[in-house]
Amino acid sequence: MKSAPNHFQFCPACGDPSIETVDSVSVRCPACEFELFISPSISAAALIEDAAGNLLVIKRKKDPRKGYFGMPGGFANPNETLEETLIREVKEEVNLDLISWSYLGAWPNQYPFKSVIYSVVDTYFTAKVENFDKMQSCQEELESIYFLDPALVDPKNWAFPSLEKAIQLLLEQRKQI
Ligand SMILES: [Zn+2]
Repeated sequence: MKSAPNHFQFCPACGDPSIETVDSVSVRCPACEFELFISPSISAAALIEDAAGNLLVIKRKKDPRKGYFGMPGGFANPNETLEETLIREVKEEVNLDLISWSYLGAWPNQYPFKSVIYSVVDTYFTAKVENFDKMQSCQEELESIYFLDPALVDPKNWAFPSLEKAIQLLLEQRKQI
């Protein structure tokens, strides 16, 4: 597995094989001066709390990290705000409508998919819904849905280190209230 810029063997513009990786974020062709930036992708995920303070946790059905615990969320589309990403992904994955959300934090992550390791910035929001009546699991992406006390989940079950850090921060903030 390689990071995205390291997959280029030929310039996509002129076909020259002298294409080179620059600072791990771009490729540049000395022959035609073509340059392509492959910046980190950004994702948004929701830590949705129920009235008892448990979190809606999903079990991932697909790799990377199949079978591990995650939060509803996903990658931003072009021209989307992060809030729009958050709302759309929550709707797609668990069919819930967020009524409020609050930025928690962001952490870098590595997302291996097929033969490419993507650099990602994962952002996390605490979020609320009016109720869970219409909740439905997206069969394609989720194995199952749980409501768990985040303080009682063994951190090694979280799918990504970024999520582990988000949970840590949430628990620290709760202690201060
Ligand atoms: Zn070129």
